[in-house]
Amino acid sequence: MEGNSLPPAGEVQPLPETATETSSQISSGVRSLRDLIDRVVGKGLTPPQVQEDSGIAEVIPFPFLAIVNQYEMKMALLLALINPAMGGVLLIGPRGTGKTTAVRGLLDLLPLVPKSLCYYGCLPEDIETMGMDAVCPDCARKYAEGKPLAVMDRARLVELPLNARLEDVIGGIDERAALHQRLRLQRGILAQADRNVLYVDEVNLLNDDIVDALLDAAAQGSYTVRRGPVSATYRSRFILIGSMNPEEGHLRPQIQDRFGLRVIVRGLDNDEERLEAYRRVKAYLANPRLTAAQYRLETEIAREEIQLARELLPKVELPDEVAKVGLKWIKELGIDSLRAEITLFEAARAFAAADSRQVVEVSDLKQVAPMALRLRKSSFMSDYLSQQEEEQVQLKAIMEQT
Ligand SMILES: [Zn+2]
Repeated sequence: MEGNSLPPAGEVQPLPETATETSSQISSGVRSLRDLIDRVVGKGLTPPQVQEDSGIAEVIPFPFLAIVNQYEMKMALLLALINPAMGGVLLIGPRGTGKTTAVRGLLDLLPLVPKSLCYYGCLPEDIETMGMDAVCPDCARKYAEGKPLAVMDRARLVELPLNARLEDVIGGIDERAALHQRLRLQRGILAQADRNVLYVDEVNLLNDDIVDALLDAAAQGSYTVRRGPVSATYRSRFILIGSMNPEEGHLRPQIQDRFGLRVIVRGLDNDEERLEAYRRVKAYLANPRLTAAQYRLETEIAREEIQLARELLPKVELPDEVAKVGLKWIKELGIDSLRAEITLFEAARAFAAADSRQVVEVSDLKQVAPMALRLRKSSFMSDYLSQQEEEQVQLKAIMEQT
């Protein structure tokens, strides 16, 4: 065969591993180069296996920045990424308003967080806050030698599915280890969410025991699991994002209070915007990769901005005179929960950091106040009063009939 020239004499090509006769078997009985070629060419090679594809689709989320309007929702989610101390975000609205799309779109914007290199999850900050005893002996030694205990890695988006069992959420007995007579605990979703973003769709439909575990872990930043003789305490410092459709179920007021920002997500009411949203969704469904590519540059810039704001955040100060303005609003609104000011101030700090400033201004408070302070009043009282009003209307209607 011309063009398929033989290797120059003395330079035998290595034989492929897949030959039916192994290289050593062939080379042991080879009389000449010609013989070798005859033995290898045209026989013995297993045909390449046709690999079935895995069927797993690559997830390319709808670009966050391609979401039309919904300014408040987008702002709340970005502030949550900048400042986890804000207490997360609750998105409230009917179906089809882009809540889940927006949350999943955060995937490309997630910041870098330190990930421990150790099985026990030791981090340098543990030593900085609690001393050498806070980490395992290995890590204590590494720290003393100036070796890194952690690497910076992109945060993940962990979803808590509606059908999760309490065991999945907090962790339980590792059944595979149990088969080998070992009692070991397996990390649950809450531990996996440590340092990451935890998204709970339809948070109002979760079982009460799961919601309680979730909120306790979120509040304390850690939680303890006990199963018979074994127990373990896991870190769970996550950014909590919940979404709910109020038509499908009520959210207990004490749960609602645990979320930092609350956003009422409504459908777009402007025809132009609706049309634009339709076009973008259509383009995305036809070619997700191309749509993502069209927003790649902006997405990268946004991700860098979030990272920079996170780094600036510890330096951002809230002057007393600005804080007093916020407290006055809270008092006038009749809000009792202390979480109102925590969220208001932390969100305002995040907003200032996002604007590359180190001092919070009243204008920052104004930007975030509606999200931080709405739905904070005791819903018992407002429900009670609205029921009274309804009754009043009914009474009036009955009396007018006679
Ligand atoms: Zn360690």
